Amino acid sequence: TDITGLLLSRIRDVPDHPEPGVVFKDITPLLADPVAFAALTDALAEFAEGVGATKVVGLEARGFILGAPVALRAGLGFVPVRKAGKLPGATLGQAYDLEYGSAEIEVHAEDLTPGDRVLVVDDVLATGGTAEASLRLIRRAGAQVAGLAVLMELGFLGGRAKLEPALAGAPLRSLLTV
Ligand code: IMP
Repeated sequence: TDITGLLLSRIRDVPDHPEPGVVFKDITPLLADPVAFAALTDALAEFAEGVGATKVVGLEARGFILGAPVALRAGLGFVPVRKAGKLPGATLGQAYDLEYGSAEIEVHAEDLTPGDRVLVVDDVLATGGTAEASLRLIRRAGAQVAGLAVLMELGFLGGRAKLEPALAGAPLRSLLTV
């Protein structure tokens, strides 16, 4: 069944957030609707199963909200990739460039093992910088990348093309493209 219309109807455009000129895609109306949230979870879990994932990695913070139910639905473990300094154990880190400056993400290295095939989940793919860093981190942790799944892709920012080398043939699935 086509859930595109349902999902799209539950995403709110917030003009000038977080800064003037940016239209922020707000997924909180979708999260508040259990029918839409379940449909999204089912679609992503089906993708996880299709790519043979053994773990779901969620990207802080909305990737946690979407990724955790996907992992449970697909019978997989969930691993959070967090902003630097938040995880308490032994971490592996990956820095990446932002429009102004840089950022770093981290994962608990022992939560990913060489046999793992990881599906990365996030809400919105924008420039692709965050997702690209997460894919590098997963490979450096010794695991394989099974794929990347997002609710929405902002096509005009070119994230898909930027991600091609880091995906190295792994599939990128976005349920909605704007
Ligand atoms: P990127 O690294 O430029 O692709 O930005 C992606 C990250 O920023 C993701 O973790 C998203 O959650 C967040 N992000 C960027 N734009 C939006 C938006 O319009 N709505 C929600 N999250 C966004």
